[in-house]
Amino acid sequence: MAAEKRSFQAEVSKLLHIVANSLYSEREVFLRELISNASDACDKLRYMALTQPDLAAGDADYRVDLTIDKDAGTLTISDNGVGMAEEEIHENLGTIARSGTEAFVAGLKDGDEGADVSQIGRFGVGFYSAFMVAEKVEVMSRKAGEDTAHRWVSDGLGEYTVEPVEKASRGTMITLHLKDDAKEYLEEARLGTVVKTYSDHIQIPVRLVKSEGEPERLNQASALWARSKSEIDDAQYAEFYKHVSHAFDDPWLTVHWRAEGVIEYASLLFVPTSRPFDLFHPERKHRVKLYVKRVFITDDCEGLVPSWLRFIKGVIDCEDLPLNVSREMLQNNPVVSKIGTALTKRMLNELKAKAEDDPESYKTFWENFGAVLKEGLYADAGDHKAALLGLSRFKSTAGDDLVSLADYMGRMKEGQEAIYYIVGESEDTIRSSPHLEGYRAKGVEVLLLSDPIDDFWVSMMFEGYEGKQFQSVTRGAADLDKVAAASDPEKTDEEKSEETAEETAPDLAPLVASLKLALGEKVKDVRVSQRLTDSAVCLVADEGDMDMNLERMLRQHKQVETASSRILEINPGHTVIKGLNDRVKGGKSGGEIEDAAYLLLDQARILDGDPPLDPLAFSRRLALMMSKGLSA
Ligand code: ADP
Ligand code: MG
Repeated sequence: MAAEKRSFQAEVSKLLHIVANSLYSEREVFLRELISNASDACDKLRYMALTQPDLAAGDADYRVDLTIDKDAGTLTISDNGVGMAEEEIHENLGTIARSGTEAFVAGLKDGDEGADVSQIGRFGVGFYSAFMVAEKVEVMSRKAGEDTAHRWVSDGLGEYTVEPVEKASRGTMITLHLKDDAKEYLEEARLGTVVKTYSDHIQIPVRLVKSEGEPERLNQASALWARSKSEIDDAQYAEFYKHVSHAFDDPWLTVHWRAEGVIEYASLLFVPTSRPFDLFHPERKHRVKLYVKRVFITDDCEGLVPSWLRFIKGVIDCEDLPLNVSREMLQNNPVVSKIGTALTKRMLNELKAKAEDDPESYKTFWENFGAVLKEGLYADAGDHKAALLGLSRFKSTAGDDLVSLADYMGRMKEGQEAIYYIVGESEDTIRSSPHLEGYRAKGVEVLLLSDPIDDFWVSMMFEGYEGKQFQSVTRGAADLDKVAAASDPEKTDEEKSEETAEETAPDLAPLVASLKLALGEKVKDVRVSQRLTDSAVCLVADEGDMDMNLERMLRQHKQVETASSRILEINPGHTVIKGLNDRVKGGKSGGEIEDAAYLLLDQARILDGDPPLDPLAFSRRLALMMSKGLSA
């Protein structure tokens, strides 16, 4: 049968072109990628053989063998893992299946010779790194349980061929025809070093096959997590982290422990230094692999890690689950959920310690993963809420730095009853919100929340934090009186009450009444504001209503149909308000006041990022006002 020729998917061609021409200095990582694939293939078969022992029959000593042929200039990597059927070969070695990979390829500029391909493994395209050192790659693979094998060949230049071949044993054999400048990988010593550096932790033996005598084992081949901490150095942890998680950064936090209570398990978990590209992908799950007695079971174990810790990577190896546990059995499994609870607690404690020991580095962690952790404030039943609040950091009006709730509490003004916050789409827009004016004037700090999740958790924080409730500055009345009074202890009570009386001195009742009349149903109420110092007006939600940003967001997602009407607050100290009030008192009513009322309402809407109620009417009114101003 003739070999079938196919073109690589365009994305792959582009990737291969970059890989083949890259000047990446550590191209030895190709070996790590190929050994990692071989070891994954053995893991897969070992798992399948738990229920279908025939598949591994005759050869359950999983291994990766390296063979050098100096005359032919080839290096061969072969395994006795699960192998690939014809379709799988096309799928895995001709296309890029995993989501997010396109982004990686797009990020590498075509023809960019210095392109950083070091990230290749992380994006599920590690196999193609073979073309960094090989001008031609041959893959022979026979799937476990099948008789026919297939041979895939390519020079990485746009096309590959696949044909049926004979192969004596199951598994995959990859032959690299090394480029002239990559002949160093024909040296035994060089291979030994590379394997030691990158693949020492691989659980199965990686062996160098010699023309004479026994094969030489190049790696330790014992599970890293099962070894004692004192035997492992940072570099080994880092290499293992890269292997288990397809990552290319270093771990920001490494937590390695063994639990020997009612349930026995070993655990080696990592928090990455940088944010994985798919962290907010809807299908993104945690990346903690479950092993049972050193046998890989699944990397998709529900209930092992809460979704708000999905940035954690690593391994849990449990002694108390049966080896032949099925994925179905793992659902709602009490052992799994106990481990999950312990693991969550442990990680939160570790994060707390890190926040205390190294606050600067913790800020970077927070910028990467804070938005995910905050999902826990919303999703968690309550067990971890207090710990999560303690770990949370926020932007605030106190400066540009991130602050903790403890910082915030320490700066609370005397008489301040609540933890104030404002939620909006971006830090910039909320920083300049008129709702903050009164708080700023009185030195009351306000938390600036701009992650999409913020609206949700903060509205669920009924229990508050250390006795203080969370209070939105865009909802309800601003009760800043007490704070102001308390903030200046020099003054007598009498002086204070005089001052407040003075501030509200102009009787705005006439204006309030005519604005209500003019706006009717368009507003829920009109009242004199305590929160404004510079702007003339703002809109706030009534005490019992949904906070404004939350409603806006739900409306965007079509979860809420109509907008609720808001309270229009007016600034008693503002010239426009005073002037209007005088006019009303002087007997003005009708069209002019109505125009002013609508302009004020539209202005408040614009400040919140909403369009005017009726843009046409708005511009007509504005033009009218301006022409009056010009003719005055
Ligand atoms: P990843 O390992 O991240 O999935 P790779 O590009 O390294 O990405 O490999 C792509 C796929 O090719 C693997 O997921 C696997 O299905 C298949 N594959 C690669 N090498 C082997 C092998 N030695 N044995 C079986 N399958 C393999
Ligand atoms: Mg791989």
